[in-house]
Amino acid sequence: MKKKIIAGNWKMNGDTASATEIVEGILDAANASSHDVVIAPPFVYLSSVAEKISDSKIRLSAQNLADHESGAFTGEISAKMLSDVGCTYVLVGHSERRQMYGETNTVVAQKTALALSNGLTPILCVGETLEERESDQWKDVILAQINAVIEHCGIEIFQETIVAYEPVWAIGTGKSASAEIANEVHEFIYYTLTSKSDKIRPSLKVLYGGSVAADNSAQYMSQTYIDGVLVGGASLKPSVFSEIIRSVE
Ligand code: PEP
Repeated sequence: MKKKIIAGNWKMNGDTASATEIVEGILDAANASSHDVVIAPPFVYLSSVAEKISDSKIRLSAQNLADHESGAFTGEISAKMLSDVGCTYVLVGHSERRQMYGETNTVVAQKTALALSNGLTPILCVGETLEERESDQWKDVILAQINAVIEHCGIEIFQETIVAYEPVWAIGTGKSASAEIANEVHEFIYYTLTSKSDKIRPSLKVLYGGSVAADNSAQYMSQTYIDGVLVGGASLKPSVFSEIIRSVE
C-alpha cells in the first residue's frame, strides 16, 4: 500500500513561539504514524523548525520558491536555498500564489522544474474556482494546469511530483468538497497522468486540500484515489492536526 501524506500549510501565520508549540504538539502523532507528515512553515521559520524536527519523522516543506535559479531577484528564495536549510518538499502553484501574485501555468511549470533539479519534491497545487466548477469547466482548467507542467518538465516527473487537488472554492472557506466530488476529480487526475505513462502509476500521489478538518479527514483518506491531504487552517492547531494525522489508517 502507498504511504499517504498529511501535509500542513501554515501560510503567513504565527511566530517563533507558535511554531515551537505546533511542532511540539504534533510530534507524538507524527512519530507514531506510518504515513508521511509534512509541515510548511513560513520561510523565516524553516531553519529553526528544521532543527526542532531533526530527530522526528516530520518532513519540511516551503510554501513557495523563486522561478529563477539565483541572482538579482530581491526578496526571492531559491530552490537551492530551501534544500540547504533542510526542506525536502515545496508547494508549487498554490491557488493563493496563482490568484494574488499572478503566477501563471508557465511560471508554475518553471518552478516545478527548479524544485526537482534542486532535489525538492514539488507538491503541485491545481484546482478550479467556483465559477469554473459551476460552468463545468473544471476538467479543462485542471488539464491546462497539468499540461503546462508536462510540456515543460515531461510526464515522468510525476514519479516524484505530488499533485494536490485544491478547489479554490473550498480553501479557507469552511466549504469542503464532498469526498465523492474530490474522489471524482482525483480519479480524473490519476487517469489523465497514468494514461500518458505507465511508469508513474506505482508512485503517483494526489492529495486533497480545502477545509480539511478533524471531522472530515477520514472520509477523504478512505477514498480510492485520495492519497493524503493538504491542510491549511487546521494545521495551525496542534491538537486538530494531530487528530487528522491519527485519522489515517
Ligand atoms: C491550503 O491552504 O492549502 C488549504 C487547503 O487551506 P484550508 O485547509 O484552510 O482550506
